[in-house]
Amino acid sequence: MKKTLQRPAGWPASLSTPVVSPIAPSVVYASTSPDELDSQYEGRETGYTYAREGHPNADVLAQRIDALEGATGGLVVGSGMAAVSAVLLGLCKTGDHVIGADQLYGRSLRMMAEDLPRLGIATSLVDATDATAVAEAIRPETRLVLIEVVSNPTIRIADLDAVAEVCAERGVLLVVDNTFTTPLGIRPFEHGADIVLHSVTKLLAGHSDATLGWVAAKDPALAERMRIFAVTTGMTPSPFDCWLAERGLATFALRYARAQDTSQRLADYLSGAEGVKRVLYPTRPDHPEAARAQSLLKGQGGHMVSFEIEGGRAAANAFAEAASGIAFAPTLGDVGTTLSHPASSSHRALTPEARAKMGVSEGFFRVSVGLEDPEALIACFADGLAAARGTA
Ligand SMILES: *Cc1c(COP(=O)(O)O)cnc(C)c1O
Repeated sequence: MKKTLQRPAGWPASLSTPVVSPIAPSVVYASTSPDELDSQYEGRETGYTYAREGHPNADVLAQRIDALEGATGGLVVGSGMAAVSAVLLGLCKTGDHVIGADQLYGRSLRMMAEDLPRLGIATSLVDATDATAVAEAIRPETRLVLIEVVSNPTIRIADLDAVAEVCAERGVLLVVDNTFTTPLGIRPFEHGADIVLHSVTKLLAGHSDATLGWVAAKDPALAERMRIFAVTTGMTPSPFDCWLAERGLATFALRYARAQDTSQRLADYLSGAEGVKRVLYPTRPDHPEAARAQSLLKGQGGHMVSFEIEGGRAAANAFAEAASGIAFAPTLGDVGTTLSHPASSSHRALTPEARAKMGVSEGFFRVSVGLEDPEALIACFADGLAAARGTA
């Protein structure tokens, strides 16, 4: 840190170095001369200039996530939706066509429905479990296909390899939002994805205290276009959030393994429980893409479980209230288990008929499993189910 009249203290020297990344909140970086600035801007020397353009905490975090995804040159931005925007708005132009999976994250669907069309970018939604449906939706002007490997909230599994093949044949970019599956569940670049993105807010950071996104492209030219767009539109992440996420990442693998084990146990419990109509979990033999879960996800079920209870809204209210040890909150990937009710939250804008078509009834819940003691967690679900049965 430079000593100046106003900030005369500088930063203490130390031969030994910290093992934890320092937080660098500085918005601006001082240079010694215009020549030195030239050498930085012209790429002869490395260095930071202004935090919106880049800062050390973002770069350190980006490199950590790059390593997990097998990527290079990934970019950390201010939220998962900033990452979605960097792709869709940074790489598409008026006249392009974009295909999205019909069960994308709610705000991604909204961008497909409202923002892209407003800018003259046509959109279509297709069932990503069906590569033929994706192939049929491709037009000469199709720029990219955006999918999630495991869908929200019905836990359907996209036919990633076949969709990647279709995209490669037709010269269309394949973009995978890997938030739900995480790089421990699958590494989409190894399955033909051109661009991979994350809401780092969720399981990667893992503690519901940092809002961040990450995006990387195989083609460095596309990565550079997204970087420039993100800087211009101010998608800059907070250094402190980046620091928190880096700290969170240190335990990501442990949290993932624990949440996955508990999810399997919870799914097995729910599938045998009275008052539960159906359970959706990838490794269960009654899952609609059970075989694909084994081949594509290598038998890993992940940390999300969805299920449907008997009864309507009254049963759902009773369940959520009685399962009081579980946060009833519309997020996922936290250290604590969270329960979401799509009909009243993420999917409330849909008509009851559209929800019914997806299988999202008033009795449908999605669980993001956390790190609680599995027995204690299952006991909470048992309390919820008993209360729901009481409304019948
Ligand atoms: C949460 C989420 C997003 C958006 O991320 P934010 O960090 O909340 O902006 C995008 N995609 C998926 C799959 C998500 O779960």
